Amino acid sequence: MSIFTNRIEREAKTVEVMIGLYCKNHHGLSVTDCPTCSELQNYAIDRLHHCPFHEGKTSCKNCPIHCYKPGIKDDIKQVMRYSGPRMMLRHPILTLFHFSDNRRKEPLSMLTQPPPVEPDEVEDCSGPIN
Ligand code: SF4
Repeated sequence: MSIFTNRIEREAKTVEVMIGLYCKNHHGLSVTDCPTCSELQNYAIDRLHHCPFHEGKTSCKNCPIHCYKPGIKDDIKQVMRYSGPRMMLRHPILTLFHFSDNRRKEPLSMLTQPPPVEPDEVEDCSGPIN
């Protein structure tokens, strides 16, 4: 699937790029050689693929659920803060999509989904809410 037409794939690619940039500049490694960043990347991509809002999702930062475990949420925020401003020159197209995707302030599918559970209850969000 294309990052141009599939939001989940696009966000997964963006996460990969951001964690890669962070890891290179903080750990001097590529993500595949860094257990910490590999784990973070796998976790973040897994969350995206199990996002209950699918293509109607908002940015994770604006999500009413936020399915990340608290410690990992802080880790990914740190990566985003570092890599977000540095992505523009290296990955302008992904960056433009990132800004555009961030304009959605609440999930589209929220209108047709049951009310989300509280974040603490979503420790192991393993699939879409039916
Ligand atoms: S549920 Fe929220 S935080 Fe989790 S992947 Fe979907 S949009 Fe991101």
